[in-house]
Amino acid sequence: MKSINAVGIKNRKSKQETSRIGNVSSYDTDTATYNLNPPPTILAIESSCDETSVSITRGREVISLIISSQIDIHEQFGGVVPEIASRHHLEQINFVVDEAFAKANMTWDDIDVIAVTKGPGLIGALLIGIASAKAYALALNKPLIGVHHIVGHMSAVYIEHADLKPPFISFVASGGHTAIALVKSYTEYEILGSTRDDAVGEAYDKVARVIGLGYPGGPKMDKIAKKGNPQAIDFKRIMLEQGSLDFSFSGLKTQVINHLNQMRQKHIDIVAADVAASFQEAVVDVIVAKVKMSIQRTGYNKLALAGGVASNSRIRARLQQLADEMDIQIFFPSPIYCTDNAAMIGVAAYYDWISRYATKPAETARYSNATNIADMTKPANAINTNHQTSPTGKINPAGATNPDSTAKSNIENVIMGDGLDMDAYARINL
Ligand code: ADP
Ligand code: MG
Repeated sequence: MKSINAVGIKNRKSKQETSRIGNVSSYDTDTATYNLNPPPTILAIESSCDETSVSITRGREVISLIISSQIDIHEQFGGVVPEIASRHHLEQINFVVDEAFAKANMTWDDIDVIAVTKGPGLIGALLIGIASAKAYALALNKPLIGVHHIVGHMSAVYIEHADLKPPFISFVASGGHTAIALVKSYTEYEILGSTRDDAVGEAYDKVARVIGLGYPGGPKMDKIAKKGNPQAIDFKRIMLEQGSLDFSFSGLKTQVINHLNQMRQKHIDIVAADVAASFQEAVVDVIVAKVKMSIQRTGYNKLALAGGVASNSRIRARLQQLADEMDIQIFFPSPIYCTDNAAMIGVAAYYDWISRYATKPAETARYSNATNIADMTKPANAINTNHQTSPTGKINPAGATNPDSTAKSNIENVIMGDGLDMDAYARINL
C-alpha cells in the first residue's frame, strides 16, 4: 500500500469538549451560516475512483489524512480498471481507517459524525466507501452525511485559507469534471458552465497516452510541457458559442491525434514536449478566457481552484496572471488537497452539517438525535447515487432542513440529503 500521511496533528479532544458539541456559538450574517464551537469531529471516507482515503477533520482543520493510492496497480492497464479499483478499496479501507486514527491519536469515541463521498464516481468504488461508512455509523450509532464529490473538491480550498468565505468563483478541473461554479454560500452552488464532452484531466490523460507518456498523464504532460514550445503547433481553441461558459475538449484531443498521424505519414519526428506544450497552451487559453468571462459577468472578486488538474503549473500561473490583471484574489489548494482526498469531504460535510442542524442562532443543534442511524428503517441496499439531471443547473447539497423532520429520516435520505439536486454533475464517469 502506497500511502501519503499528509497531516498528523496530535489534537485529542477532551470529554468536556465533546459534551459541548452542538451548541451554536455564532451566526455569520455574511454567509448565513452558523458556527458550532467546538466544531464536530468528522471522520470522512472518499473512495470514488482510485484513491482510498480517510480523514479526521474538525471544522476546516485537518487532524489526519491518509490517502492510499492505486496508481501503481492501474498503471499497467493505462487507466483505472473499475473492478480492480473496487477490490482494492475493499482490501484497504479498514487499514486506512486505522491509520487515520493512529495519526490523529484518536479513537471512535472522539468522532461525532461520519461523512462519505456519495457520488459521482465509479459505482463499485463508491459502494465500498458508502457500505463501510454505513456499517460504522450503524455499529457505533453515529450520524452519517453523504457528500457530493465535486462539492468536496470545491471545499478543499477552505482547508489552507482560513479567511476565505463565499461568495467566490470556483474553477473545478478533475479527471471526470470541468466546471465554472458560483459558490454562493458554504452550501449553495450554481454551475455557470461545464464540459460537454471530455473533462480537462481526461483530455490530458488521453493525449499523454497517444504521445506515449503513460498513465496518469496529467502530471507527466505538465512536466514535459515545460521543455516544449507552446507555439510549435497551432491547435484550434474551441470556444463554443459566443459567450458560452461551457467547455469542449474532445475536438482538441482529435486535433492532437490527427497531427501525430500526419507527422508519422510524412516521416517527421514527433517532439513530444512540443505537442504537450502546444496542447496545454490551447487548453489553458480556453480556461483563462472562460474564467475571465465568468468574473466579468458576475462581478465576483475571488477565484478558487479545485480538482486534480488544479495542480497543473501552467494553469496556476496563467490564472494567477489573470487574477493580477483583473485585481481579484485567487486561492489554490496544495496538490494533496487538489487530488481526491477525504479531508475535502470532511470539510464539505461540516458545512452541510451546520446548515442542516443549526437552525437558529443560540439554539442547540440537536444533531445527535436528528440523524440517529438507529432510526433506520430502509434496507441497506437502498444506495442510490442520485444521478439525475435538473434543468436548473443548481447543486443544493444542504437544503434548508428542519431538524425535527430529519429526526424521522432513515439512513437513505441522510446519506443522500433531502431534496438533493445533482444537476450538471449527474454523469457517472466510468
Ligand atoms: P477525479 O476526481 O476525476 O478522480 P482527481 O481530482 O483526482 O480526479 O484528478 C485526477 C486528474 O487530474 C487526472 O486526470 C490527472 O491526470 C489530472 N492531473 C493531476 N495533476 C495534473 C497536472 N499537474 N496537470 C494536468 N493534469 C493533472
Ligand atoms: Mg476527484
